[in-house]
Amino acid sequence: MTESQQLTPAEELRVAGMRVTAARVALLETVRDGDHLDVDAIASGVRQRIGHVSLQAVYEALRALTAAGLIRSIEPPGSPARFEGRVGDNHHHVVCRSCGAVADVDCAVGEAPCLTASDDHGFAIGEAEVIYWGLCPDCSSARSSEHP
Ligand SMILES: [Zn+2]
Ligand SMILES: [Zn+2]
Repeated sequence: MTESQQLTPAEELRVAGMRVTAARVALLETVRDGDHLDVDAIASGVRQRIGHVSLQAVYEALRALTAAGLIRSIEPPGSPARFEGRVGDNHHHVVCRSCGAVADVDCAVGEAPCLTASDDHGFAIGEAEVIYWGLCPDCSSARSSEHP
């Protein structure tokens, strides 16, 4: 475990050079407790912790925490952005085309970037983001029972 895991969320914000606000602390906790939550789910988690917070404040905190690298956003095309507290390991995601469920897929190599580009065009590549699309177990069993 890294040293940052012994810090409280408020201390982590401070270490990242960020202003500490109740909304940011609650948001960091909500995202880490959750599993690839979308903005609506994050907003309700924040409100459960600290009472009313405007959606604008939630967006502002999400942007700030993502930019600071404390949380990570996943933006599957055609589905709402999700946020997670698992950062820095360059893992990937599998997304269900039917219900939008998201699950983590570990990097096959274990270090970033875990895909070597066939042509890097001279860029120093630091990350590879892969989304695997398919059907989650619930959706695929629902389909096969529709069409026995
Ligand atoms: Zn599904
Ligand atoms: Zn993830």
